[in-house]
Amino acid sequence: MQAVPDIIQLLSDHIANQIAAGEVIQRPASAVKELLENAIDAGATEVQLVLKDAGKELVQVIDNGSGMSPTDARMSFERHATSKIRDINDLFSIRTMGFRGEALASIAAVAQVEMKTRKQESETGSHLVIEATEVKKQEPCAAPQGTNIMVKNLFFNVPARRHFLKSNTTEYRHIVDEFTRVALAHPQVAFRLWHNGVEQYHLEAGNLKTRIKGLLGNAYEKNLVPVEEKTEFLNISGFIGKPEAATRTRGMQFFFINNRFIRSAYLHHALVQAYEGLIEKEAFPFYVLFLEIDPARVDVNVHPTKQEVKFEDDRLMYAYLNAAVKHALAKYNIAPSLDFTLSPEIQQLSSVQMPVTQDSRQETEKGYLFNTFTQKNQAHLAVKKDSLREWKELYKIADDIAEQQTQADSANMVTAPSLHKEPETVNAKGIISIQGSMLVTTVKSGLMLIHIRRAQERIWYERLLAEWNNGSTPSQQLLFPLSYETSAQDALLLTETLADLSRIGFDISPFGQNTFVVQGVPTELPAGEEKHVLDEVIEQLKHEAPDAVAKRAETLLANMARRLSRNMGGLQYQEGQQALIDELFACSQPEYAPDGRKVFTLVKKEDLEGMLG
Ligand code: ADP
Ligand code: MG
Repeated sequence: MQAVPDIIQLLSDHIANQIAAGEVIQRPASAVKELLENAIDAGATEVQLVLKDAGKELVQVIDNGSGMSPTDARMSFERHATSKIRDINDLFSIRTMGFRGEALASIAAVAQVEMKTRKQESETGSHLVIEATEVKKQEPCAAPQGTNIMVKNLFFNVPARRHFLKSNTTEYRHIVDEFTRVALAHPQVAFRLWHNGVEQYHLEAGNLKTRIKGLLGNAYEKNLVPVEEKTEFLNISGFIGKPEAATRTRGMQFFFINNRFIRSAYLHHALVQAYEGLIEKEAFPFYVLFLEIDPARVDVNVHPTKQEVKFEDDRLMYAYLNAAVKHALAKYNIAPSLDFTLSPEIQQLSSVQMPVTQDSRQETEKGYLFNTFTQKNQAHLAVKKDSLREWKELYKIADDIAEQQTQADSANMVTAPSLHKEPETVNAKGIISIQGSMLVTTVKSGLMLIHIRRAQERIWYERLLAEWNNGSTPSQQLLFPLSYETSAQDALLLTETLADLSRIGFDISPFGQNTFVVQGVPTELPAGEEKHVLDEVIEQLKHEAPDAVAKRAETLLANMARRLSRNMGGLQYQEGQQALIDELFACSQPEYAPDGRKVFTLVKKEDLEGMLG
């Protein structure tokens, strides 16, 4: 009989390591996530992230945490080396935190790594150089307490992977995403981020609110609505955004379960559903919410790069989250106050029925969710009012106008809209203008006060948005193209924004170092305003999180809207005033200007009577 050759061979350690590494480290952002989490786990209060070329050349994390002994420093790069799991009782922390002792080993398999680390009690630190898993050097060194780890030339030994990396803009965006998540989950830790020598974030230690402001800009504060609910099953805390801060694309949506970032389309749905009637169907509300739940009731996927979860009772999670958000919106007078009730089906779930300790009962009994959900005989969700609809009905004509508006728009898309056109519906109402800045008009239940400038901004904003979404903003070629000069940093920002700008009618192209040539501008833009607008746009973009791409379009549009409204002046004629009101109420969000300020308010008849005593 002929001998059959055996063909199975063991992969070399080298290759096995690279394969395993590929699961954990997919791009520079994965290394960033792992290193930042290690710094946090080490108890750091200050963490610095230094990047070169979107992390492709360098990802460096410097922390002031516990540091490592020389032996631990060497050990930390071994696969399955972890100080975070000692015995089987710690296994649940694998489920919740994803500790597997794999990150450093994986990174070391596919990069050139250099680490300096010192424990507080040691006099000298340890300096370690590793390349593709091979220890090149380990020697004592002087080092501050903590760990300083440099990951250079990621995938230098796996060309296929290195080749697979996306553009610097994209990779940097992924990094900022990870950085943002870790920074949000740990507001008590100070973080700084440098990219190619430029400091991009400087986040002081503080609370969640200051952290959100640090990441998104101070202007964001006015858009935040706190959420705070405690039940025996689940604690929910954090912030949601006011409806007008909702964006057209996703980006600023964060759920953390037991302080760990997760994605969940299901929970997202629960949240968005709570905004029904307050935001447009396709809009994404802002949220940073922390859900605390008994780890035994949640299964966070063990895989380090997946952030998916399974809940024991997901319908209950849905109902609680949904109600908590509705409650927060109602409490801050954003949505009309609602009666929340739970369907009987959900009330019968074991989690709702489960026995509770005296302490936890006392703790939560005052809570809003507790009270609403433990009442007997609740029918399913009570009638919900739609505040937007309410306003519209209040100002009767709105719907008709909206109808005509859309027809007019689709019939004649390129005409520059004018606020001073003859109104389609002449509604014989008395309108009074107060010094050209406010309009007063009567409605059924009293007087309505309208802020003219803000109304104009809202109207322009929605027109521009519609054009933006249609991709059909009219542009007007300049007779004499302008040259526009910027600093090197602004030039970068402007370059990244050119595509967006072209979508609102700017025809700009790079023209040598830090200089651009402006050949076309939006038709509505008055001559001489071009440079101002660009200056403003750049100024605003600078103060935004670099990854806030969704916000970027909105910033552009809001800016343009403001600019265009500024040139309109007061409204002298009754028809112009009526047209403004009609158009305002044809908007999808007439109540707020693009920046969130109120456009109009209602003075009730009773209040007026009260004034007269
Ligand atoms: P894990 O975090 O799952 O334990 P890692 O591979 O990320 O696995 O890290 C291995 C071990 O190295 C950690 O358990 C920890 O003891 C040590 N370590 C890693 N980074 C740091 C750091 N920045 N400071 C102190 N110890 C660290
Ligand atoms: Mg780790």
